[in-house]
Amino acid sequence: VERTSGILPAAGPGTQKQDMKKRTSKDIRNESRFALLRGLYSLGTATRQELASATGLSFATIANIVGELIDVGVLVEAGREDSGGGRPVTRLRISPARGALVGVDIAETYLHVDVYDLALDVIGQAESELPIDENEPASLARRVAALVDQAASAAGIAREGILRVGVSLPGQVDPQRGVSVFAPNWDWHEVRIQSLLSEAIGLPVDVDNPLRAIAIAELWFGAGRLVDNVATVNLGTGVGAGLAVGGDLVRGTSNTAGEWGHTTLIFGGRLCRCGRQGCVEAYLGVPGLQMTMAEVNASHDLLTGDRQREFVSDVAKGLAEGDPDCIELLEVTGRYFAAALGNLINFINPDHVSVLGWTAKVLGPELLRVTQTYLPNEVLPSAGAAVQVELSSVPGNSVTLGMATFALEGFLEQVGLPSRGPTAARAMASRKRSVEAAGA
Ligand SMILES: [Zn+2]
Repeated sequence: VERTSGILPAAGPGTQKQDMKKRTSKDIRNESRFALLRGLYSLGTATRQELASATGLSFATIANIVGELIDVGVLVEAGREDSGGGRPVTRLRISPARGALVGVDIAETYLHVDVYDLALDVIGQAESELPIDENEPASLARRVAALVDQAASAAGIAREGILRVGVSLPGQVDPQRGVSVFAPNWDWHEVRIQSLLSEAIGLPVDVDNPLRAIAIAELWFGAGRLVDNVATVNLGTGVGAGLAVGGDLVRGTSNTAGEWGHTTLIFGGRLCRCGRQGCVEAYLGVPGLQMTMAEVNASHDLLTGDRQREFVSDVAKGLAEGDPDCIELLEVTGRYFAAALGNLINFINPDHVSVLGWTAKVLGPELLRVTQTYLPNEVLPSAGAAVQVELSSVPGNSVTLGMATFALEGFLEQVGLPSRGPTAARAMASRKRSVEAAGA
């Protein structure tokens, strides 16, 4: 297979050969739609020819998929241009007006809703605080529904103008069953949250975990447009990594891959809120930063307030003013981060590590600068030479954008044009086989 110099690198020859045996023509069709859509979101507008070179798919395949997507109103003509003598060439784009998608980020202390048009540009948003004791599933679902309405009216659309809603929930989530398997901070076990949300909102809903959301956002709209192996590291109250390997989302068997925040950084170290000792999160989560500050200078002014966001922005202020304790905090944290990243990089050998989350938003450039100076000591030379560590280039909120992307995939499946990536297609096929086997 001739590999084009497009924006979406094709899978290596080894993987392709291996996959061929298992993939059906239906899988290949789904994957081709996935590649085309990713290409089009990346390019904005494109001709069929440009899509063929960007994806490495044949012109005939592109023409077929474009036809299907035009039929369901997802693609529209963006204009015609002279092709230099022959027939005029049609330029295509995603139709923003086809309907809206909603991404919801249910975090531990707040709710955030973004309404996207189908081109995945934000057209309205709403946010509210979430008191920690507000954890009854049905009332949380009603709260989300009210906020979706508020965001929709900010976007100037009615609820009927929304095609589908993607909701990210903390903890362990099973998107196939629509269940929150375990949410430790709310003490949820096996909560059928998808149906509660869908009833409250009155629309189809997809649920997933924030690490899966940031990984797919990075895959479609960040570093994943250029390279295949990307770890997206989130630094906030909690710490974790969304993973994409071979251009494909890594979920693991029970959708908990990427819990890098709960791998051990210091054996026998600080107690983590997961109950184990010495986890990465206990050093790089905001409470971990506060603890490091207490070790640097237990009587520092910054430790008097207990609000995490204030703490992080005060550290940024302290750094700007040359506060020696803040500089020491940054230095120590950069070393922890380098060691923890070294483990991640040695383990999955990524092309790219994208760093995001609200700590990264506020302290990112300074923290990365210090981390980069220690990183070469923590990685195997070949893995270190291959990887780029940068702040994520995904615009806006990666969690809501990722959930809107899942909602887009759900919508396309709903209209009979599934575009799941290779693993999802395989997973669905194997689930179907096991269901058939169970029924037989
Ligand atoms: Zn832990």
